[in-house]
Amino acid sequence: MSSRAQTNDVTDLLIVAREQFERAITWIDDLKEGMVDYLVHPKRTVHVRFPITMDDGSVKTIHGFRVLHNRARGPGKGGIRYHPDVTEHEVAALATLMTWKTALVDVPFGGAKGGVVCNPKELSRAELRRITRRFVIELGDAIGPHTDIPAPDVYTDQQTMAWIYDTFDVMHPGHNNRAVVTGKPLELGGSVGREEATGRGSLNATERLLEHGIVRGLDSLNGATVAIQGLGNVGASAMSLFHEAGAKIVAVTDSQGGVADAQGLDPDAVIAHKKENGSVVGLPETKTITNDDLLAWDCDILIPAALECQVHAGNAADVKAKLVVESANGPLTPKADTILQDKGVVVLPDIVANGGGVVVSYFEWVQNLENQQWKLGKVEERLKNRMYDAVDAMVESWRVLLEGNNKPERGQPSLRDAAMVVTIRRLAKVVLQRDIWM
Ligand code: NAD
Repeated sequence: MSSRAQTNDVTDLLIVAREQFERAITWIDDLKEGMVDYLVHPKRTVHVRFPITMDDGSVKTIHGFRVLHNRARGPGKGGIRYHPDVTEHEVAALATLMTWKTALVDVPFGGAKGGVVCNPKELSRAELRRITRRFVIELGDAIGPHTDIPAPDVYTDQQTMAWIYDTFDVMHPGHNNRAVVTGKPLELGGSVGREEATGRGSLNATERLLEHGIVRGLDSLNGATVAIQGLGNVGASAMSLFHEAGAKIVAVTDSQGGVADAQGLDPDAVIAHKKENGSVVGLPETKTITNDDLLAWDCDILIPAALECQVHAGNAADVKAKLVVESANGPLTPKADTILQDKGVVVLPDIVANGGGVVVSYFEWVQNLENQQWKLGKVEERLKNRMYDAVDAMVESWRVLLEGNNKPERGQPSLRDAAMVVTIRRLAKVVLQRDIWM
């Protein structure tokens, strides 16, 4: 195993997204000239700078931005990230992935993402509240229920969404404005089931993929061994849900390291230990492991659910899993993709594997527009149907690419190629139907 730096592999999510797109379009012969450029670049980026009074009476200028990548299929959709290092570049990459994902899981949205350069760990609640409200005022009608709909992302939460909704509502009296933002508290129109939607969507997609029988030696979750990197919203939900579905969780990590137990970990004990101690490390009667160990763990299914570019040219050859489920965004570099494909490891790509979050965000938006509140059973059933449809569309596309491969020099299609082909075709179709060109 060598480090990513030693291999000169990419660490830039925008380059990863572009390379995945470039590879996918080699499978599409009839893409109209100009479409590639149109699909790959963000449609619009709004930058705002605004002054905020800090609690100590000083004034600080805050920089925020919102990237709307594409809205051919509907209003932009994507989170807002508060982080001292957030850049337009990173946010453009995440907005691009949202465009691909919304098309693949077939919700009527485009892709967007936002960022505010600030360090929430050093800000009081009152300062965060003023930053959020002023950011919404500055964005004006760049966001709205039918233009661009934000959601939580890194260091933003239900409270941030409540402030966004309230500020926008004050700016647009006399309208039902709940659908301006998703990920709200339940009482303000949030949806039941949103919290665990991404993890549940990963489970649904994995189960459906296994039913298709294209992962050699693995046709069900029953007794399958699973290793998970990251125990935040997505990783922790996935751990509990895969366990409930009959899988054995044999290793998990967080940012400080991890634990393993060949007999299977108890998800409730893992979560309780992490809550009490800040990390899973030290859970009694388990073996302590590193994040490098986890990625190379002997298991059937590896679920990266933490950060981007974790599996790269330096460690992909060590992966022992039969299936990698990309619950995080962009956890594999393109070089890792190729290495895993050559080893026969199947990769369930992020735009499918973590699409459950945006599906339930769509459900929240629909409930808001209709002034409805669905029951949990309805949300889960509809999520499952959408995830199954997304997997079926990807697998069907993969079989077509495999059978019609008239250029063997480009190698075999991957599931990511197949999913991207579905996405690009769906986007290109609406662009042509709308006759966007003038
Ligand atoms: P989160 O902040 O809740 O959790 C991230 C977890 O990763 C934490 O447990 C942290 O300790 C761990 N972590 C950080 N660095 C690590 C490292 N080097 N090794 C191992 N673990 C590490 O984030 P989240 O919402 O769970 O999101 C995780 C990933 O899933 C991100 O890529 C995110 O973009 C993606 N995603 C999230 C959602 C959602 O609904 N939350 C939807 C789609 C995609």
